[in-house]
Amino acid sequence: MLASVLVVEYGDLADSWNLSIPYYANYLQDASLMFTTPSVPQRGLGNRVFNLFLGATVGGGSTVNGMAYVRGAKVDYDTWEEIGNRGWGWDELFKYFRKVPYPLLVGAVGRLG
Ligand SMILES: Cc1cc2nc3c(=O)[nH]c(=O)nc-3n(C[C@H](O)[C@H](O)[C@H](O)COP(=O)(O)OP(=O)(O)OC[C@H]3O[C@@H](n4cnc5c(N)ncnc54)[C@H](O)[C@@H]3O)c2cc1C
Repeated sequence: MLASVLVVEYGDLADSWNLSIPYYANYLQDASLMFTTPSVPQRGLGNRVFNLFLGATVGGGSTVNGMAYVRGAKVDYDTWEEIGNRGWGWDELFKYFRKVPYPLLVGAVGRLG
């Protein structure tokens, strides 16, 4: 059976070199691809409010992001699993972490895993 799916997105398709070169999103010149929304007051920071950047294009923040990648701490992943997210613990995810090209850490992968 054929089905139709309606995808509603906040913004249009974008195909800019700012979006395809790692870290260039941070120099995004086309303000129409982003919008900001205020955070809730941050208790640990004197209740200051910060502007959060969001993508105003198909794919949202996942389209405009800087593609910087850092692995989280083992305890964070294990906590996700402990609170009910089976398969999201460190031991299960580690094999995927190893597949991510990580040229800056080439010399360190042996030591740091
Ligand atoms: C400039 C910038 C740089 C970043 N750099 C990095 C980085 O280097 N490394 C990193 O790990 N993370 C980075 N991030 C964060 C990362 O991009 C986000 O945490 C991640 O993309 C969030 O994914 P998501 O699926 O939750 O939301 P999104 O990817 O934003 O997905 C939300 C979806 O909902 C749609 N949508 C939103 N509002 C509506 C609406 N009203 N109606 C219909 N559809 C709507 C959006 O179009 C989008 O498709 C960056 C973010 C920004 C903005």
